[in-house]
Amino acid sequence: MTAAPGFETLAALAPHPPSPRTYEVKTYGCQMNVHDSERLTGLLEQAGYAAAPRGEQADVVVFNTCAVRENADNKLYGNLSHLAPVKAARPGMQIAVGGCLAQKDRDTITARAPYVDVVFGTHNIGSLPVLLERARVAEEAQVEILESLDVFPSTLPTKRDSAYAAWVSVSVGCNNTCTFCIVPALRGKEKDRRPGEILAEVEALVAEGVTEVTLLGQNVNAYGVEFGDRQAFSKLLRACGQVEGLERVRFTSPHPAEFTDDVIEAMAETPTVMPQLHMPLQSGSDRVLKAMRRSYRRSKFLGIIERVRAAMPDAAITTDIIVGFPGETEEDFLETLEVVREARFAGAFTFQYSPRPGTPAATMADQVPPEVVKDRYERLAAEVNRIAWEENQRLVGRRVELLVSEGEGRKDAATARLSGRGPDNRLVHFALPEGERPRPGDVVTVEVTYAAPHHLVADGPVLALRRTRSGDAWDARQGRPGPAAGVGLGMPAVGVPAPLPPAPACG
Ligand code: SF4
Repeated sequence: MTAAPGFETLAALAPHPPSPRTYEVKTYGCQMNVHDSERLTGLLEQAGYAAAPRGEQADVVVFNTCAVRENADNKLYGNLSHLAPVKAARPGMQIAVGGCLAQKDRDTITARAPYVDVVFGTHNIGSLPVLLERARVAEEAQVEILESLDVFPSTLPTKRDSAYAAWVSVSVGCNNTCTFCIVPALRGKEKDRRPGEILAEVEALVAEGVTEVTLLGQNVNAYGVEFGDRQAFSKLLRACGQVEGLERVRFTSPHPAEFTDDVIEAMAETPTVMPQLHMPLQSGSDRVLKAMRRSYRRSKFLGIIERVRAAMPDAAITTDIIVGFPGETEEDFLETLEVVREARFAGAFTFQYSPRPGTPAATMADQVPPEVVKDRYERLAAEVNRIAWEENQRLVGRRVELLVSEGEGRKDAATARLSGRGPDNRLVHFALPEGERPRPGDVVTVEVTYAAPHHLVADGPVLALRRTRSGDAWDARQGRPGPAAGVGLGMPAVGVPAPLPPAPACG
C-alpha cells in the first residue's frame, strides 16, 4: 500500500496529542534486528518521540519481529493480544509491527489483530514515523511492505544502545538459498554498501567515543559481490585497522563456502581485528549439508578452522548447528558430533530443526520425529558444553584485557563484580576493584581465576585500569563530563575486548 496523496499535508494540519509521545521498541531475533531496532528508535526520536520511562506504558509500541524461530507468529499474536485491552483503555495509543514476520505475513497481521495500527516490512523501516502519523490521522491501519530496499538502512538515524560498541552494516540480504532459511525471501538479494560509506560511518562512530565496531551482514565475506571485488571484505578489515582510535573490530557472520584465505591473513595481520570467529557449521554431515543447500563440506569447514588457528592460535571459534534436519540419520548426527569434537568450539548456538513455512525444507519428506530431534539436541548440547568448558579451563591463570561492558552480568550487583569481554569475546566477570571504579567502555587487565562453560571469573585484583574515550562517552550519557581519556587516539592497545549481545547468526 502506498501513501495516499495529501496525507502528509493532512498530518501537518491535524491537531497533535500532547507531546512528546513515548515509545517502546520490542526486539526479537538476530543482530540484524537488534541493529534495525537502533534505527527505529533513532527515527522515532528524530520525529519527536521520547523513550518511555522504564515500567511505564508507552504511547507507541513497536514490535520488531523475527520469522526464523519456531512459533514466532504465535508468540507475536500472544503479545499483541495482551496489549489489546491496554490499548482499548488508552486512547491514542498505537501499535506497530515490523521486521521479518511482518514482511512475510503482511495483511494477515491486521486481519488477526485488527487493533494494530501500522505494519511495515524489512525494506522500509524508514517509513515508520510517517506510517504512525498517517494511521493516527486517517484512523485506520497502514500496511506498507516493499519488495526491495529503497534506502540502505544505515543512512537512517540511529540511536545506539551502547556508548562504546556499535554495529555497522556492510550488506543486507543474501544470495544463498539454504533450504531451511526464510531470510532470502524476506530480506532479498544481497546489497553491498560502498567501502567509503562504511569507513565514514566507522570514523563518525569513533569520533563519538566508540572503540569497538562489529561489521554486520547475513554473509559478510560475500561482501563485494555487487561491485565485483572478491577481496573486498579483507580490504575492508584492513582499512578498519587504519581508523585511529578504533580498538576492536569484529564481524558476523561469514559463510564457510565463501571464506577465503585473504580474510584470515587480514585478521591475523590487523592488530585491531579480534581473534574471534563465528562461523555457522549447521551440520557436520556432507549429505545433510547438501540437502540444506550449503555449498561447502565438512573438510572445507575444518580446513578453514585449521588455518585460522595456525594464524591466530588464541582465536575463539563459535558456530551455529541445527539438529534434526529432514532426512538426518543417526549416522549423520554422529558426523556432526565428530566435527564438534575436532573443531573444539568455544561455544555454539544449537537449534532443533522445525519446519519454517515458506522454506523448501518445510515440505521435505523424512521429517525427523520430535523426540529424536530432542534426544540429539540434548546430546549435542552436552558435548558442546563439555568442550566449551574444557577450552575455558585452559584460560585459568591467564591475564586478559577486558573491555568493561554494561548489562552483561545479571548477578554482578549481588556478587560485587563487573563484567567485560576479552579479545576473543569471552565474557569475564571480575571483582569490583577497591579504588577507582571502571566505567563501561574502560579497559581493565585481570587474571582469570575460574572457568564455567559459558563464562570466566577473575576474582583477583584488577591489575591495570585504562580510562578510555568510550568510558568518557558513557559518562557523558549519564550526564557527567568524563575526565580526559588516559590514552590518546590512534594508539590502539593490542587485544582490547568486546561487549556484544551474543545471538545466533546466519551465514
Ligand atoms: S542461512 Fe544465512 S547464508 Fe543461508 S540463506 Fe539464510 S541468510 Fe543466507
